[in-house]
Amino acid sequence: MLSLIRLPRVFTVHQVPKAFQEDSIISGYRHPRSSATDCVLSLFQLTNETLNIWTHFLPTWYFLWKLLTVVLMQDVWHDAYTWPLLVLLVSCCVYPLASSCAHTFSTMSTSARHICFFFDYGAISLYSLGSAVTYSAYVMPDGWLNSTFHKYFISIAVFNTIISTAMACYSRLGLPFLHYNHDTLKRFPECQSPKLGQLIRILSFAFPYLFDNLPLFYRPPPLCVLVREGCTVNDANALHYRHIALAFLTAFLCATHLPERLAPGRFDFIGHSHQLFHVSGVIGTHFQMQAIEMDMHLRRQWLSERSAPITLSGTFGAAALCVSISLVIIYLFSLCLLRRPTNRKAQCPNGKTRGCSSD
Ligand SMILES: [Zn+2]
Repeated sequence: MLSLIRLPRVFTVHQVPKAFQEDSIISGYRHPRSSATDCVLSLFQLTNETLNIWTHFLPTWYFLWKLLTVVLMQDVWHDAYTWPLLVLLVSCCVYPLASSCAHTFSTMSTSARHICFFFDYGAISLYSLGSAVTYSAYVMPDGWLNSTFHKYFISIAVFNTIISTAMACYSRLGLPFLHYNHDTLKRFPECQSPKLGQLIRILSFAFPYLFDNLPLFYRPPPLCVLVREGCTVNDANALHYRHIALAFLTAFLCATHLPERLAPGRFDFIGHSHQLFHVSGVIGTHFQMQAIEMDMHLRRQWLSERSAPITLSGTFGAAALCVSISLVIIYLFSLCLLRRPTNRKAQCPNGKTRGCSSD
């Protein structure tokens, strides 16, 4: 049966348009105007994207299982204390799913590629907010509880996610209508200065991450030892360390493009930095989830006596606001690309037009 299905051809880096080329990846590119069916079929064909898709598609199901476990085992409808965890778990399902969809369908056209990754960035921002909501509820160090910083923590995190989504979208093409429009793709950051585009993208995710983790940076030694008061030392700290270590490894892989930079072409299909980036990110999320759940249970009594009550607006409301604004941003950045361009040459391998005259 499988032999009846003809898998699509793959191409080398010089056969695909610049927008599809990846640093130090030489082969295994899918056709830049693949059909949706070809994209789905490519899940079962070894291309340079196959493991990018699976390394986020499979974890989606693991996180969904975690979410269902909490929904079914705990009284989530009446116990507001579980709501921040639910927000995090939903965001943990959304970000790998959006990423695997983006990697699957990103070769349908140049426009589709950009739009797919706009959604990917929006989902990462939502995950950042999910982390902030749980940190505010369960992880905040003793000395910072009910402080001014704690009071505005979620509001600032919402603001950060909006800026983060907008900056990440901007890093691909610049500003819609100003730097690119439906007739011309000037692609100011990506084509003329790809390094600047990548730097903006890394910063756009690094700064909300660093902000969200401020409570954690204060909790454990050595900072705790220096300050000596208001710290929180419990068994969850070791898990928090692992999460932070993996987060830094994830950022390192993203920024350096190692190992493929050392041997271009050698890691095209298995072992390139983006796959490792996905894997370390997911393992980091797993440890983060364990640490948060441990804090949640260990500190419940203490927090319930001192902390302000958890509200719908501070949990699901903040997430809904973040999703709504991110969708508006994605729509604005995609608007130009959704319109049908006029008299554009198709972007096919080898510059051939193959009857594809529009995005
Ligand atoms: Zn990815």
